[in-house]
Amino acid sequence: MHKKAEELMFADLLRFREDGRIDLFNNAAFLLPSEFILKMEEHLSPEEIYVLAKKIPLPIIKILSDREMKELERLDFLLQLAEVLGMGSISVPNFDQNNAAHQVIITNTNPNKVSCHHTRGYLASIFSDALKKNFECEENQCVSRGADSCKFTISVKG
Ligand SMILES: [Zn+2]
Repeated sequence: MHKKAEELMFADLLRFREDGRIDLFNNAAFLLPSEFILKMEEHLSPEEIYVLAKKIPLPIIKILSDREMKELERLDFLLQLAEVLGMGSISVPNFDQNNAAHQVIITNTNPNKVSCHHTRGYLASIFSDALKKNFECEENQCVSRGADSCKFTISVKG
């Protein structure tokens, strides 16, 4: 499941530090630790969280593209990274890069996990990078409102 992420962790090319830093191929990238995000969320609107979260994967995308990792491989790796970081178990049913919209389902979400507005921003950002479109992400159902999984739709807004 986390093939690439595990391979890199095993080779010591991917390390997670307690302060939220990630070392990837000996480059440091900063991912906000969840306690910090939760704290930040007390003071920000959902839209502000979403907009900020879109920036979170950018340093990692830069490291991966500098190493010439291909777009779809990057998307796959960034989804694996989110799983390893505890975002939940992520699936993208019927993925086809030519689809106008993409569905993402996240199950086993930890009740202490960062909010879905943060997740939405992260997903919008990594899909936009991989598929070269200006995607936005909406959440259609959420475990915090009693659903069995969180479901997101990623599409270009008209
Ligand atoms: Zn949710």
